Amino acid sequence: MIEKQKNYVTRFAPSPNGWLHLGHAYSALLAARHANAHDGKFILRIEDIDTGRARPHFVDGIYQDLAWLGLTWPTPVLIQSARFDVYEAALRKLRARDLVYPCWASRRDIADAIADMPGGVDNWPRDPDGAPLYPGIYRDIDDTERQSRMWRGGGYAWRLRMDKAIAEVENQNGGPLFFTELADGQPRKIRVNAACFGDVVLARKDVPTSYHLSVVVDDAAQGITHITRGQDLRAATHIHRVLQVLLDLPAPQYFHHALIRDPSGRRLSKQAGDPGFRGLRHDGYSREAVIDTLPAPLGTGALL
Ligand code: GLU
Repeated sequence: MIEKQKNYVTRFAPSPNGWLHLGHAYSALLAARHANAHDGKFILRIEDIDTGRARPHFVDGIYQDLAWLGLTWPTPVLIQSARFDVYEAALRKLRARDLVYPCWASRRDIADAIADMPGGVDNWPRDPDGAPLYPGIYRDIDDTERQSRMWRGGGYAWRLRMDKAIAEVENQNGGPLFFTELADGQPRKIRVNAACFGDVVLARKDVPTSYHLSVVVDDAAQGITHITRGQDLRAATHIHRVLQVLLDLPAPQYFHHALIRDPSGRRLSKQAGDPGFRGLRHDGYSREAVIDTLPAPLGTGALL
């Protein structure tokens, strides 16, 4: 018997830039199951800030596929692309504290700067997701140059001054930060180490926010107490905790579940073109059969 938590709210927050695959089905069903076990709420949120890749038919596909799985969720559904002003307001708070700075560097500029470093790209540090750390090109330019570049226009991103952000949150918190991970059996306190991500982008050149910024803003706005999502996003939680403290947002608890892999051990992904599970539906598989392909505690794990 689990101990029920009061006012449990969790969510499934897909990005509509492809069809949902079995990994999404697992994540959504697991979140709904957790909510149910605590007499809590399961919320759906559409994370469509990537306006270059998000498509309305994928949003419809999400609604149809989740309904086919037997899930229900409160409406209206929060759509992130309708909330850019809210994310901009959060960014303004960080600007007011000089915690972010504009960055004009293109991918090419960043790659060139790293290649010019003494050890070259092979010795340059990478973040936990494997991306090379930002080499600080526009971080310490003087104020006059920054202002005149901003006046000139042209696209720029906003990056978090990570070292300053960490110093402020640890100061505010009276010591190091932690987040609670629930997926390891017993609840586990994990010490936040966001420095290994360097100066992450909080607003992109083409979009006035980023995943990290909008996800923490919306988890708080929707009163999410428990975040259920894949292990691929566990490292990002270190950044999210820092932002939550900077923006004075509550700390949810986290359940980062294992990722679904195909029989060869490769994890499913939209990018790799894994067919959505709607294909299985069209091929005549029943809802029960599809759920049975998922690992425990939802199915027997006999991936199709
Ligand atoms: N929108 C993200 C995705 O589809 C998930 C975000 C989250 O669960 O925090 O990968």
